[in-house]
Amino acid sequence: MTLRISARERDALKTLPRLIQRKVSGALQGSVEDLRAVVSSLNQLRDATLLLPVFHAQLEAYPVPDAISPDVVPVIMLAKFSMGGIVQICHNLGNNVTLGERLVHDAVASKWELLFPWMQFFSNNFLPPSQRPPVLPHGLSVSTYEALRITVHPLSALCQFTKVGRQLMRTNSTIQAFFFRAWVIVDGLKSDDFADPLRPGDKNLSALIRANMCSLSVTCLDDTPGSLPASIIASAAGGTFPMASLALRYIRRMAREVSNMPEPRVRARENIDFSSMTVCATGLAQAILFMQSLGDGADGCQELLLQLGSIRTVLYAVAALWERLLTPALNGSDNEPDVGLPARRNVLYMAYRYIGYSMNCADDSASVISQALQYGLLECLLRTGTSPVERVDNVRRFEDDHDIQLLKELPRFFVFSKVLRSLGPALQRVNQAGLAARASKDPILWELWQSVDSAARVFTNFYELPEGVPFYRYQCGSPTCSVEFPEDDITAFRCSGCLLTRYCSKSCQKDAWESGHRIHCRMLHSAVGQILVLCIPKFISDMPTQGNRDVREIRKSLPVIAMIQSWIFDERLDEIKTLYHSTRDAAEASNDRYVIEVDLSVYPVELNMYTFRDYSHVGGIGSPDTFKHGIADLVTTSKDSPYDLVAVKVRLGREYYSLFSPAAALDIAFGWASGIQGGRYIHDNPRALEP
Ligand SMILES: [Zn+2]
Ligand SMILES: [Zn+2]
Repeated sequence: MTLRISARERDALKTLPRLIQRKVSGALQGSVEDLRAVVSSLNQLRDATLLLPVFHAQLEAYPVPDAISPDVVPVIMLAKFSMGGIVQICHNLGNNVTLGERLVHDAVASKWELLFPWMQFFSNNFLPPSQRPPVLPHGLSVSTYEALRITVHPLSALCQFTKVGRQLMRTNSTIQAFFFRAWVIVDGLKSDDFADPLRPGDKNLSALIRANMCSLSVTCLDDTPGSLPASIIASAAGGTFPMASLALRYIRRMAREVSNMPEPRVRARENIDFSSMTVCATGLAQAILFMQSLGDGADGCQELLLQLGSIRTVLYAVAALWERLLTPALNGSDNEPDVGLPARRNVLYMAYRYIGYSMNCADDSASVISQALQYGLLECLLRTGTSPVERVDNVRRFEDDHDIQLLKELPRFFVFSKVLRSLGPALQRVNQAGLAARASKDPILWELWQSVDSAARVFTNFYELPEGVPFYRYQCGSPTCSVEFPEDDITAFRCSGCLLTRYCSKSCQKDAWESGHRIHCRMLHSAVGQILVLCIPKFISDMPTQGNRDVREIRKSLPVIAMIQSWIFDERLDEIKTLYHSTRDAAEASNDRYVIEVDLSVYPVELNMYTFRDYSHVGGIGSPDTFKHGIADLVTTSKDSPYDLVAVKVRLGREYYSLFSPAAALDIAFGWASGIQGGRYIHDNPRALEP
């Protein structure tokens, strides 16, 4: 049979070379060989779009087969070449959006009802796990790459160029499920599977397909905060855990692929290697964004991603790529910095954004920072600053850029011992790597770094605690007993009230309680922020254990926090006196006591002073509880002290904690003096940092 196309379309075909015209008419009569020849000549034609009606007619002429059998071989082959032709025409558009919208509308959007069943057919039969028979009938050949290409590219063109396509992708769950199945399949493919018979030796195919997948995934989630199809993604991937691992694996593979891409001979838009690199850098940035969106959208996924090593993965991508991404801009060999550089910069932007986001939102943000420091965050930040040729607007850089934001926020985490443990070695590595020359080219970054560096040096000194502090030795809490526990001993009894004091036996616990712990317990309880955690409904309603994890981090850091608190008092005594006078002058005449608050949730550390009564109303963070239960009455201060009570504010994850002075609590309960002598903290024989 001869396929029907309109007279106008038939006339238009007459402008094509004669040979092509002959092949077209053969194809319209059902010749697979002629259709193949038409498709392989597409790139030489001036206006290949004239052939679209021919391809559409092929797909329209035959019903999609239910199964593979010898009699449908020609139908399948005709469909394969027709789909391939449509994809090729769209692919040749590059990024030409003006031209693209109309063309993709004609080629794909208006024929979607026709194309999609064929896409499903090729996906089901030729992509793993395929339903095709083990031995294919004679004359049938569809490679994995071909099936993948005609499965993914129409969708990708539709979303890239048309609004209606993006809408479809965001709302149609059948298409989403179809797409995410492809997403899982691409993850499982080996690089051999990506071989294209028409482009042998093209090493970028897998990277390009992956980049495409990531960009499409982001389209799916874009602008639809309420309707994230995380459940669809998860069911395609086989559950939340496989979904999260898959997202991470994509990032790792893409980072590796971008770093292995051939070096473009000319860095200009027209160069194929250069444009592949740009596409893949964009894909990598999207892969990171996609992971972040998943974490945001699926319950518990953010924490799962962190547990699976997302911070390490993201920093690995930056570390593996920074040179590849930025060197041309640094040495001025980038012919078109306006084209390639923003795409490459975007990878860094997304990576730092993800780390910043995790640092502020993860339950255990101290672990996030600790891991980030361990896996080279500081080195990455100092290497990837802007270069003078990039001509950045420094004011905006200060406000918008995530590397700058990260540096600004880092020091407020230096109060946690877990962070300090990683900070020392990280600083050593930065020194050894000699990054000053590179980093100082970015004046904003450099200025901030110096402030971070000096904060880091001050705070790491607090970590080098004097030996023999009872709190650190985990001594039995009974005043008449001297049994000691190793730091990681979990067998010793622990007081269930303060969770700080330990005992070797029940009888020691009883002794301690009667000889004063009854009172100290409440003080310690407030000093680790436990009362406040119970005030936060989130912890009561769904996740009672998470509050404990937060508190544990504060608890472990108490000696450090106590030291910083005392150090600040020593350093800034004049400021405290001034604050006291102004607060006293402003307050009504009363016998009220004064609370000084050391705010460690910001850097530089801030000091605030309130009357005791006012402090109860400050900030809505449950402050009154810090001093309730008669704790305030237990604290007596010397006459010349300009304050009565000390509160310390710290931030961990999303929550703020207001602590009763750890220095006072530890001192009263354990005789743990905070150790200022002659204005110095660092004792003569500082303990070496553990590696
Ligand atoms: Zn004991
Ligand atoms: Zn206790």
